[in-house]
Amino acid sequence: MSLNDTPSGERAHVAFFGVRNAGKSSLVNALTNQTVSVVSDTAGTTTDPVRKAMELLPAGPVLVIDTPGIDDAGDLGDQRVARAKGVLDTADVAVLVVDATRGMTAFDEKLVGAFQERGIPYVIAENKADLLEESPSPAAAIGDDGSGCRCARVRLSAKTGAGLVDLKGLIAALAVCARDERRLVGDLLVPGDVVVLVIPLDSAAPKGRIILPQQQVIRDALEAGAFPCATSVEMLPRLLASLGRPPRLVVTDSQAFGRVAELLPESTPLTSFSILMARYKGNLAAQLEGVRALEGLADADTVLIAEGCTHHRTCEDIGTVKLPRWIREISGANPQFAFTSGRDFPEDLTPYAAVVHCGGCTLNAREMASRIQRARERGVPLANYGLVIACAHNILDRALRPLEL
Ligand code: SF4
Repeated sequence: MSLNDTPSGERAHVAFFGVRNAGKSSLVNALTNQTVSVVSDTAGTTTDPVRKAMELLPAGPVLVIDTPGIDDAGDLGDQRVARAKGVLDTADVAVLVVDATRGMTAFDEKLVGAFQERGIPYVIAENKADLLEESPSPAAAIGDDGSGCRCARVRLSAKTGAGLVDLKGLIAALAVCARDERRLVGDLLVPGDVVVLVIPLDSAAPKGRIILPQQQVIRDALEAGAFPCATSVEMLPRLLASLGRPPRLVVTDSQAFGRVAELLPESTPLTSFSILMARYKGNLAAQLEGVRALEGLADADTVLIAEGCTHHRTCEDIGTVKLPRWIREISGANPQFAFTSGRDFPEDLTPYAAVVHCGGCTLNAREMASRIQRARERGVPLANYGLVIACAHNILDRALRPLEL
């Protein structure tokens, strides 16, 4: 992602599903006006989900995802189907591409059931209308499909472009309805507030840039009409002295929690980027329960530490080195640790006594919610990095106070 792009976690995820050769990839290419996916008459040409960012007005930035055919078979086919199903956990809007010359298959019906189960609004796109005698009909209005799910149906042709405008309109309308209006920090601020952001510039910080959660907090504070002031830990006392009034809020990188807490008067509201992200993307109250559950860990337990992206690890890496140390301190036990990053979040969480997840800034809210839900269903507590670090520094209550939890 370049600094000029909307992060993928902030884009509505529009996922195309269907059986092989229904014309998913042709439709994605026609919709995006680009060759995003390779198209051929050979069934199963798309072997992995393919992603393409684009603007779709009035919804704004979206991420279009083309998935492998849901009816693929054999060992490799099973893996492709599993990947296509994995996309269900991230889809804000689904497009079910059906071959209009064949009609809905049993696989298509199952997909509709999966959308309904997850509350994903969807469009049924009856493709290949150019092969039918009747011409494409106008798109049906968005309605309730009887299960509480919003849906619409359109007959179109990826080949001739007929009905494509209707499809775009339906996707955009459903994406607007599905939009999450939660704020990262803006709802905690009023115009004119000063919010101090503590951003360590140590060896773990990426060279030449600030990381995504920090960029997003700055952007959201600006949108709230507040004044975001960024500083390093070392320069924090000088910044505070120069302000003339206490800041409305101080947000720190979690790793500097302890030092920043010592430098601030107890009355100054303090939290972390990671905790703000946990509130924005997930269920903070549930993740708080997850932190408390860490106290009961035993030596025989395994804790899964999960990150939403793959990034360069340093020798004092937070996920693989520092967090295990802090979790041992909190629990007084010596559990085992397992690690995942990016999209490889396990389907089966039963081998784990707890999950500790990063803020998930690169994941969309639906994917983060799916991960939290998966943990809940298996009875596995899930905690957030920032909350665990605040707990390890004995400042959890203080870090939550600004969020009125
Ligand atoms: S590790 Fe998590 S919070 Fe950090 S940048 Fe990656 S997705 Fe975002």
